[in-house]
Amino acid sequence: MHLHLLRFTAWCLALIVGGAAAEVAAEPVLFSTVVIDAGHGGKDGGSVWNKLVEKKLCLDVAKRVEAALKSSGLKTVMTRRTDTFVELEQRAHIANRMSSAVFVSIHFNGSRKTSISGAEVYYRSTRGKTFALAVNRSIKSRVPGGTRGIYYADFKVLRETQMPAVLVECGYISNKRESRRCADPSHRQELADAIVSGLLAVRGKK
Ligand SMILES: [Zn+2]
Repeated sequence: MHLHLLRFTAWCLALIVGGAAAEVAAEPVLFSTVVIDAGHGGKDGGSVWNKLVEKKLCLDVAKRVEAALKSSGLKTVMTRRTDTFVELEQRAHIANRMSSAVFVSIHFNGSRKTSISGAEVYYRSTRGKTFALAVNRSIKSRVPGGTRGIYYADFKVLRETQMPAVLVECGYISNKRESRRCADPSHRQELADAIVSGLLAVRGKK
């Protein structure tokens, strides 16, 4: 996402709302389907840094998330599975056709402040926040590079999806060390596994 102006606002809000509820055990959320949204695609490459193109990394991690969820017995829907451009409205529309679903959007980050590194997890709704906390905790505990925390954001895919939704910025490819990590398929597998284990941690049993 290229929403640097929003980031400061999101950061302020996260400071206000991020701390207090973090330790409260959340209610499990029932779901049987995960809508996986690989960011960007086609004419929209996303961020490009250190010879890495965001759209390719997003799709790679999305496919790894898909495989891990399927092997856990969950149903999955991909908003794209090739290098194609999909409008944000269309991504939400694909998701909103599904029932008993959660939505996870996969992105990588870039900033002219190249010292910044770490994943970030965004949410907009209260239920989305439950997933954001769990995914953030999971990435923080098992993926090198860790996270910068959870943030509220009024992103279109979060606003227009009628289900719990999170957007994961998997790391800053503008940061030299992080870009080297993100270029490594085994790191991207760790990211995918951490995202899946975060989602499953929230899942209620039927
Ligand atoms: Zn992006």
